[in-house]
Amino acid sequence: MKVAVIGAGISGLVAARDLVSSGHEALVIEKSRGLGGRMAARRAEDMVLDHGLPVLEVPSGGLLADLVRDLAPNGVVRLDGDAVAWPAGMTVLPKAMVAGVDVLLGTRVAALREGGQGIEIAQDQGNTIGVVDAVIITAPAPQAVELLATLPGAPARADALRAVGYDPAVMVLAGLSIDEPGWFSARPDSGPIAYVINETVKGRAPTGGVIPVVIRLRPDDSARLFDATDDTVLGEVLPALTEVMGHSTPVAWTQVKRWRYATTRGRLDQDRMNPAGARVIIAGDAVAAGPSVEDVARTGQWAARRLHSG
Ligand SMILES: Cc1cc2nc3c(=O)[nH]c(=O)nc-3n(C[C@H](O)[C@H](O)[C@H](O)COP(=O)(O)OP(=O)(O)OC[C@H]3O[C@@H](n4cnc5c(N)ncnc54)[C@H](O)[C@@H]3O)c2cc1C
Repeated sequence: MKVAVIGAGISGLVAARDLVSSGHEALVIEKSRGLGGRMAARRAEDMVLDHGLPVLEVPSGGLLADLVRDLAPNGVVRLDGDAVAWPAGMTVLPKAMVAGVDVLLGTRVAALREGGQGIEIAQDQGNTIGVVDAVIITAPAPQAVELLATLPGAPARADALRAVGYDPAVMVLAGLSIDEPGWFSARPDSGPIAYVINETVKGRAPTGGVIPVVIRLRPDDSARLFDATDDTVLGEVLPALTEVMGHSTPVAWTQVKRWRYATTRGRLDQDRMNPAGARVIIAGDAVAAGPSVEDVARTGQWAARRLHSG
């Protein structure tokens, strides 16, 4: 069976690996240029910062624990009980997961067309990427809805998915010139900052006395500031950071990053969303059994197994 997996986040990559290991063909199609989706890392001033999912919880005995154990190149990811240290950034895991899997990056799927030969996958300009036997969609619900809406037989599923809302996240990445390498991470009770994470806790060394931190704004503040300029965002966040830290801190550099769909506010039952015999399967956080990344990863495994078990 030939399957297109839309999205190279954790659920899509788990699905693709499962299909390939059971002898099927899987092509992962990802609109951005990188792997990992919301498990995201970026380089700033010689430092690596996780600007999406901040910390990966790896429950012992679970699917993620197996993955980390199997894939982690020596020393790049360390598993200590349930905690993972990522000296080279969160995308190490997705990068290791694509070994043996075909991936098309920088390609947005715009439409799905079901025909006699199978399901045709169309790109933005209308070009056909290929015809496959089945599709697994792992995009966040609002983007999955757009794709389902192009399939004549799926309006009820598109309507159900429309009900899944997401909180946006405005993130500020900053290099702080502070003299306290062991400085904590914080979750303040009030103000626009939801959390500040000192990335050196993940096994990353400060560079030139500068400590990389990732700051997430609360959902309401993220929604309010989503379309504001970076200067406006920083004008609110840097004074709030001073308050959180209890003193002002020289800021060596900053970057602002926005996620329109960061975390779900609700979830649907994956089994009910994917009736038996469906050739377009929904996976990803909108249909996870719970809020953890382990739950999200399992939706990819479920989707692959639903397809290859017939
Ligand atoms: C800032 C932030 C903080 C978070 N904090 C937590 C937390 O504390 N705990 C927690 O459990 N979770 C958290 N999450 C959520 C967690 O990261 C996600 O649930 C998980 O990574 C989702 O994985 P996924 O594979 O379902 O989707 P994604 O990682 O979103 O992957 C889907 C992929 O599909 C691609 N795509 C979409 N549409 C198309 C298209 N038409 N064509 C091709 N590709 C397409 C997207 O580019 C994306 O790469 C956080 C997320 C963010 C952004």
